[in-house]
Amino acid sequence: MARTKLIAGNWKMNQTVAEATGLIAALRAQAAAMEGKDVAVCPPFTTLAAVVAAVAGTPIRVGAQNVHWADSGAYTGEVSAAMLREIPVTYVIIGHSERRQYFGETDKTVNQRLLAALKAGLTPIVCVGELLQQREANQTEAVVTTQIRDSLAGLSAAQLAATVIAYEPVWAIGTGKTASPEQAQAVHALLRALLRQSHGAVADSVRLLYGGSMKPNNAAQLLSQPDIDGGLIGGASLDVEQFMGIIKSA
Ligand code: PEP
Repeated sequence: MARTKLIAGNWKMNQTVAEATGLIAALRAQAAAMEGKDVAVCPPFTTLAAVVAAVAGTPIRVGAQNVHWADSGAYTGEVSAAMLREIPVTYVIIGHSERRQYFGETDKTVNQRLLAALKAGLTPIVCVGELLQQREANQTEAVVTTQIRDSLAGLSAAQLAATVIAYEPVWAIGTGKTASPEQAQAVHALLRALLRQSHGAVADSVRLLYGGSMKPNNAAQLLSQPDIDGGLIGGASLDVEQFMGIIKSA
């Protein structure tokens, strides 16, 4: 089954509204190169509305970097799925390793956030991936298997079809170290096999992104692997030339 490549930029805690407007203007000028691919940027909450306005009329879609599971209530500092829909954003990153590492995110809370995002009609990008010590201890397979099982618990086949999964080896995020195309493909093939086991044929339509120091000079090789359907791009998504270079490689 043909899966349209998705290149999504995770801006993390970068870009004020003023900075983002400039970045989007530069991306707009190259929108023709995005044809045939899905492109998204995921700015901080404070910048979402301005970026949604700035991308109007382009193929660029916008995503948030987190979402809470409750509809509303006493959750200081959190944002609900309905609030994101109102802006409106299309995607939401859930369970990024930085959320897991610094903010106590677990597979259980990832699962709760995921179900809320799906209920609201957002397209979630669920992140999984092993730490360096886990890879060195040959635990990669076990770690991502547990993450996938617990993060996706209770999802119907239709909900899985509406979900994007990003494999992001934690040792490759922001380090300049990339998984080799073979290493990444091996984990992506495992993920797809797990999804096939749990949800059947719909697994073949689920997009599996790779993330971890993807740059223009390694993107083409990674993105040509049979089970790599796009990229979640951190650092390089803040640089127009690099982000466009990756999009052109897809
Ligand atoms: C990320 O934050 O999701 C990421 C992949 O970062 P980087 O591209 O900077 O490694």
